[in-house]
Amino acid sequence: MNPLCVQCYRDNRVSAATVVDHIIPHKGDQALFWDRQNWQALCKKCHDIKTVREDGGFGNGRS
Ligand SMILES: [Zn+2]
Repeated sequence: MNPLCVQCYRDNRVSAATVVDHIIPHKGDQALFWDRQNWQALCKKCHDIKTVREDGGFGNGRS
């Protein structure tokens, strides 16, 4: 259990984590999905920022 947002912590902020994020997007990969090494605690705000970056960034196969 990690009750603090790790991203806010890096930025010298303290926020309660409300979501569990996958560090590497699992994209349906069960092994990655359940790998606790790939989990991090984030607050909703940081999670939304990360999700937008990943969905809107390059490396996206959508066409
Ligand atoms: Zn945060």
